[in-house]
Amino acid sequence: MESRLFGLSAKTALVTGGSRGIGLALAKGLANQGADVAIVSRTEEQLETAGRQIRAETHSNVWTFTFDLANTESIEDLFASVVAKTEGIDILVNCAGTTIRGPAEDVDLITWNEVIEVNLTSAFVLSQAFCRHRRDANKAGKIINIGSLTCHGARPTTAAYASSKGGLLMLTKTLAVEWAKYNINVNAIGPGYIATELTEPLWSDEEFDRWVLSKTPLARWGRPDDLVGAAVLLASRAGDFITGQIIYVDGGWLALL
Ligand code: NAD
Repeated sequence: MESRLFGLSAKTALVTGGSRGIGLALAKGLANQGADVAIVSRTEEQLETAGRQIRAETHSNVWTFTFDLANTESIEDLFASVVAKTEGIDILVNCAGTTIRGPAEDVDLITWNEVIEVNLTSAFVLSQAFCRHRRDANKAGKIINIGSLTCHGARPTTAAYASSKGGLLMLTKTLAVEWAKYNINVNAIGPGYIATELTEPLWSDEEFDRWVLSKTPLARWGRPDDLVGAAVLLASRAGDFITGQIIYVDGGWLALL
């Protein structure tokens, strides 16, 4: 049942990467608190299936937008069409993300640019459009960026990914201090290792799986649903005085020496 502090009725959230994994769980979680949701991702069929699933489980309005966020020059047009359909966005969740692993010395620029465009530049351009939309309507807003443990530390073979997520954390802080005057809260969530399609090469590797379990005090991989509580906090009235923060939802990973 919706509580007043954490309730999101009469709010609309735009969730990128909402077709599967963490983005789908967040879109559903916000809808369960009463929000209507617009979800964006690349794959139309997966997106439509996700849309039907969220509608059926939550009875919220759900709009779907098939779009490749690497196409950063068209993001403003995407945002305009989302606003035209939904009549306004109160909450922006930048969750779409991609990764390509490999030795840093061999990463080509096409790969580097793709990861930075999808994980960092698209979040920035969408946030700009969202800010102008809220500012011009004289309304508050909430932005939630999905970071990573690589906002805090590094691992070999993740140069582009870790740089994009490190950048996303600094973007979160910069926009938080700059847009506080518009009452726009900007925060991040740093998931630990969460079992999704993105991390399938990792959780299906026995040695890596053992390593993750040994580093996670709660001794399991996270589930996409584990991130919903932090997102609802940051999206709702409960988070009105929280800005410029990252909340790590990592099973204790960063607390362990
Ligand atoms: P996933 O691969 O299951 O889902 C990614 C989503 O992003 C999909 O909906 C996909 O369609 C969308 N997407 C990817 N590239 C896109 C593009 N160019 N245009 C539009 N949409 C695009 O991944 P996930 O594990 O659910 O990860 C979601 C976010 O969480 C990512 O930003 C990821 O970096 C972050 N994250 C994941 C983990 C984890 O362990 N799974 C840990 C830390 C951070």
